[in-house]
Amino acid sequence: MAKNTTKDYDAKLNKTVFSVKHQRTFCMIKPDGVMRGLIGEIIRRIEKAGLKVVAMKMIIPTEELIKKHYPTSDEAWVARLGVKAKKGLEGSPLTAKDAYGTDNDKELGDSVVVSLIQYMQSGPVVAMVVEGIQAINMVRKLAGPTLPFMAEMGTIRGDFSVDSPLVANIEGRSIHNLFHASENPVEAENEIKLWFDGEIICDYSLGNDDIMYCKHY
Ligand code: UDP
Ligand code: MG
Repeated sequence: MAKNTTKDYDAKLNKTVFSVKHQRTFCMIKPDGVMRGLIGEIIRRIEKAGLKVVAMKMIIPTEELIKKHYPTSDEAWVARLGVKAKKGLEGSPLTAKDAYGTDNDKELGDSVVVSLIQYMQSGPVVAMVVEGIQAINMVRKLAGPTLPFMAEMGTIRGDFSVDSPLVANIEGRSIHNLFHASENPVEAENEIKLWFDGEIICDYSLGNDDIMYCKHY
């Protein structure tokens, strides 16, 4: 098939390549990651993958900021937390009612939200904007799935935690899973806006870029 070489087509192609290469995501080292001295290790993994940090700050988030960050007024999102909490019971003789006092996803999610807010305020977090090819999916892959006991070795959550919702919820605390990463483009856009509103997001090239993207020959 002949390649379409019209100006419009070239412009569209360049725009697509640019948006994929410069995709931005939001991620955050949670208080347990900071207090376990894992800031350097986590950023090393992001950089080693070829992604770059373009904005960063350390803060203790307010309750208001956490409630804006997690869509706590979205009932479906809260119920999804309840579904995740139930996953910790797989293979256990306990029912959700035995372990958590309810098997209703929304009720379970509501109690996760309470402990999640406490967890996120238990110390400083390191908030970042990360840029690079498919940055949103790449940083999620580096993070691993939400529940550390189900996360593969080689991921941040799998390598540094074995926490499970069964233990966490019975102990009345959030799962300590070290790291947050936006799940999709809408989350990434909202979270970058929320955490870095009006702040400078830096534009610079990595020394690797020439080699990774073949500008050297
Ligand atoms: N969480 C929890 N208990 C649960 C499910 C979730 O403490 O049973 C916390 C956990 O810290 C998680 C956060 O809620 O990272 C947000 O949940 P989400 O489903 O968005 O997972 P993520 O995107 O962080 O993988
Ligand atoms: Mg999430």
